[in-house]
Parts: sequence; structure tokens; C-alpha cells
Amino acid sequence: MNSKNKTYYFDYNATTPVADEVLSEMMPFFSQSYGNPSSIYGLGHESLRAIGQARRQVSKLIGSGEREIVFTSCGTESNNTAIWSALQANPDKRKIITTTVEHSSVRNLVSDLERSGVEVIRIPVSKEGELDLQQLEQSLSDDVAVVSVMWANNETGVIFPVEKISKLVKSKKILLHVDAVQAVGKIKIDTSKIQIDYLSLSAHKFYGPKGVGVLYAHKKAPVHPLILGGHQERDLRAGTENVPGIVGTGKAAEIITKSNFDDLVIQTGQLRDRLEKALLQEIPGSFINGKSADRICNTLSITIPNILAEVLIPKLDEAGICVSSGSACMTGALEPSVVLQAMGLSEDEAKCSIRFSLGLKTTQEEIDYVIEKTPRAIKEIQLVKIKAGN
Ligand code: PLP
Repeated sequence: MNSKNKTYYFDYNATTPVADEVLSEMMPFFSQSYGNPSSIYGLGHESLRAIGQARRQVSKLIGSGEREIVFTSCGTESNNTAIWSALQANPDKRKIITTTVEHSSVRNLVSDLERSGVEVIRIPVSKEGELDLQQLEQSLSDDVAVVSVMWANNETGVIFPVEKISKLVKSKKILLHVDAVQAVGKIKIDTSKIQIDYLSLSAHKFYGPKGVGVLYAHKKAPVHPLILGGHQERDLRAGTENVPGIVGTGKAAEIITKSNFDDLVIQTGQLRDRLEKALLQEIPGSFINGKSADRICNTLSITIPNILAEVLIPKLDEAGICVSSGSACMTGALEPSVVLQAMGLSEDEAKCSIRFSLGLKTTQEEIDYVIEKTPRAIKEIQLVKIKAGN
């Protein structure tokens, strides 16, 4: 920890703090209005009504009907349910199209399905992380059950052109799933304007609580529950609802709907750009992944040759700075990011990449601090390496 014991949080793509208004909205549902929404007395009705309100708040955020919203336990479950539903509904269609840069919740699911005989087509991206739309178009065929693409990449922030993708996919009447987990609050999402069959959200990425996901399923899109049991969520997702979490998700959605969206995006983008420019200037040989692509305002993925993320991240942590790498932590070491390698980075480059992601609470002062501390941390690592003779 740094001397001031302050945390400089630059990992908003990993998770966000619960907003104060969200927390106070949730609190009564832990120990006062604690009824089971399935109970038919007043206390239960209170919970059921609260879920109804949250459903309205979320549907407003994404321009959907209320009955098109299903609450789940996380973005991962929403992604799994969408893809699973499309496959179940089309037993004669045994192909899935996805991309080489999806989150592990899609990537590992489709790999598992592949082992059970489903054909998976992974559309590649350019060096900048942009999707090869031509290859996507050429891959669309009658035997495709679903196309699953992310809206914004969690590691690089690169945005996929969902409107264009929708036009291509829906012109062939194929089901389209969009993982919008990193898009909420950074891109305007309007399901009444873009034809999307399934859309996944995760509350903890937009100042709501952990443990709540949302699956938007278009009213005509088939939904086959992953979890069977009671009649919750109109038989689409069994299990007693996480009422406080759902209430918080609704409030978090409402806050975004009512926010000064465009201004927030501009402000965050300016802070990110300042940080990016300074880091590039101060760190020789470094480069930004997806720099010239259309990116969400808050994300910055930087590669610093010869500086391993697994060394730099703890070093920054000593200064109170929280950042992450796109890599999965496996058996104590960081695996190189699949996403960055799909963009053409070597394994070594991918291992030397870290991600800064900004949020609503990021300040100029925090940016200045990171600009000062990061090059210093790198110099210290280099010095140790020189002393050790490597
Ligand atoms: N999709 C993307 C793009 C993500 O970034 C994440 C989480 O990092 C998920 C899905 C999974 O969301 P959750 O953590 O709610 O399971």
C-alpha cells in the first residue's frame, strides 16, 4: 500500500463500486422487506413489486419491453442462457458463429459445445481489434443457430459495430446474441432501434451489486432455462430471486437513464486520452492496443515491452494503484491474453500488457498520480533486472 493508504482504482472494467443511492435502495430488502416474492401475503408482494419496478427501470435503460427482461445471477449466466437457448430451439442447426476476442463466458462455453459436436466459427479481428465483417457475412448460413458477439471488448475497449452486424445477421433470419456487459453506461443501447435477439448485462459493471445479471430476450426469441426449478422469472430462470440485488440493479439502470450520458462519456474519454498520451510519452517502446479503433471512453490497454504484467501489477499495487491484465491467472502465473494474441501480439507482448479502466469517480488528480508513478515503477523494475543481470 502507498504512504497515504489511498486506493487509485483503475479497474472499473473488472467491477465498479456500488453507488450510494443504489446501496440505500437495496438496504430495506435485506432485513425489512425480506419477503419471498413467491409468497402470497403482503410481505411477499412488496418484494414482487420491487422486482417489477427494477424490471421497468432496466427495460427503460435498453429500450425494451418489461417482459423481455430476465434477471439472472451474472453476465456469465446471461451469456450461457442466450447461446444455450438458441441451440435448444434449433436442434437441426449445429453451428455457432462467434469471434476470437470474446469474454471467457462465451469462449469457454462454445469450446465446450464444440467438444460435444457443435461447429464453432470464430471470426477473426484485425491488429486493431476490429471485426472482419466480410468474413462474418460469408460465414452466415442456414445451419447457424446463433451469432454471438460482444459490443465492447473488456480488455481493449474496442467496439464492434453492432448495428451493422445486426443488419447482416438478421437479413439471414439468424438469432443474434450481444454481450453488452462492458457497453452499459458507455454506449447508448436501444433494443427498439437495433434488432437483437439476446443481450447480456451485468449489474456490477455499472455501479450495481455483484451477483445480478440481466438477459434481454426479444419477445419472439426462444428462451430455454439453464436452471430448472420453481416458476420464478416466468419459468425462464428458476431460483428465489436476489431481491436486494435486483432492486439495486434497477436503481443503477435508472441512474444511467437519467444521467447526462454524453457529457460523462466525453469527460471520461478526455481523462483516458490524457493518461494514454502521457504513458506513451513517458514509456519508450510502449503501444496501445486498438488505438485507432472505435473504443469505449474508459479503457486503455497498453503493452510495455519486457515488463511482465505479473511484475508490474504488484509494483503498482504498492503505490495503491489497481490495474489488471487481460490475462487469466492460472496456477499462480498469468496466462497471456487470448484477446491480445488474437490481435496479433506475440505471447511475450501479451504477457507485458496491462489495462487501465476508468470510471465515474476517476479524477484528474488520480490520473496525475498514475502518470507519475507508472513510469517510475517501470524504471525500478528495469533497475532490478539490470542488477540481476537479465
Ligand atoms: N462479458 C464481458 C464482456 C465481461 O467483461 C464480463 C466480466 O468481466 C462478463 C461477460 C461476465 O460478467 P459477470 O462477471 O457478471 O459474470
